[in-house]
Amino acid sequence: MPRKNEIEEETIVTNTMPKEQLTLEDIPGVGAATAEKLSAAGYSTLLSVAVASPGELVEASGVTEALARKMIQFARDKMEMGFETGEELLKKRELVEKIQLRSKAFNDLLGGGFETQSITECFGEFGSGKTQIGHSLCVAVQKMNPEFIAIYIDTENTFRPERIQQIAKAEGLDPTQALRHIKIARAFNSDHQMLLAEKVEDLITKQGLQVKLLVVDSLTAHFRAEFIGRGTLAERQQKLNKHMHTLSKIAMMYNLAVYVTNQVMARPDVFFGDPTQAIGGHIVAHASTFRLYLRKGKKGTRVAKLVDSPNLAEGEASFTVDEGGVKDVI
Ligand code: ADP
Ligand code: MG
Repeated sequence: MPRKNEIEEETIVTNTMPKEQLTLEDIPGVGAATAEKLSAAGYSTLLSVAVASPGELVEASGVTEALARKMIQFARDKMEMGFETGEELLKKRELVEKIQLRSKAFNDLLGGGFETQSITECFGEFGSGKTQIGHSLCVAVQKMNPEFIAIYIDTENTFRPERIQQIAKAEGLDPTQALRHIKIARAFNSDHQMLLAEKVEDLITKQGLQVKLLVVDSLTAHFRAEFIGRGTLAERQQKLNKHMHTLSKIAMMYNLAVYVTNQVMARPDVFFGDPTQAIGGHIVAHASTFRLYLRKGKKGTRVAKLVDSPNLAEGEASFTVDEGGVKDVI
């Protein structure tokens, strides 16, 4: 049975649809082999081809640039533009819920909390608090409604049930119940991670779980470790792009919050300002609705800086991490 706030995919995720039921092989010049290569690289629908650049398609399938251009033109011609009214969009926005941490400063920075229908990304150096925020959010959703479920895709083996118990106790929740409402999966490589994200939908539609939060911690570690060297960068970005698309689709369709953590790397070419940069480049940056940069502050405090948001001012919030999770500095 569809849930109350479940929104039809057609109306919210891709309101740009092909006029007819067309597949990649309906594109002139695209045979089974090319279609397979395109799908493998994340271009599995006409829409994904319509919004690709010729270079991306050449890279993905080995076709000539001239053919790539023709493919894109064909796909675009076949697209029906389904515009929504502002009123319709506002109705969807009214379903947005905000997950609140125990830090008022942090919640305020995000305009009230971590939003559903969005991806919130925290990037920062090792030990900056990214994983602790993930744990705190898993408990915070249950504070909203004890039936809510959090899903945690753990890529670095840093999920700790003991921490959940501690945070739940501090929040006045039953630690055992809190653990029961979190589903954890360890991702062993980037493909496994992508598969797990795709399977979240089954938990909601087939098992009927009221999933309100999906954590991917860390979003980029496997990708970073597996794709080393310049030659593999394009492939990595294509896969990351596909993964981010899956995450944002789930966030929109099922009105849940996605929280992803990201690492930073040193930029040897930056001499002024902060010499660190988030992994994943513009693909991750664009797909994330809210981006927070975490850094260590004075006396064990931490600072979150909102660097990108569609409707909020840039700002900073100080917080600390203790046994009870994320909280305000006092
Ligand atoms: P990241 O994921 O960004 O690498 P973490 O979220 O794992 O970093 O943050 C680790 C830090 O969280 C530790 O260095 C410590 O300061 C703090 N922390 C973790 N657990 C506790 C706890 N039980 N009590 C107090 N602080 C803790
Ligand atoms: Mg971590």
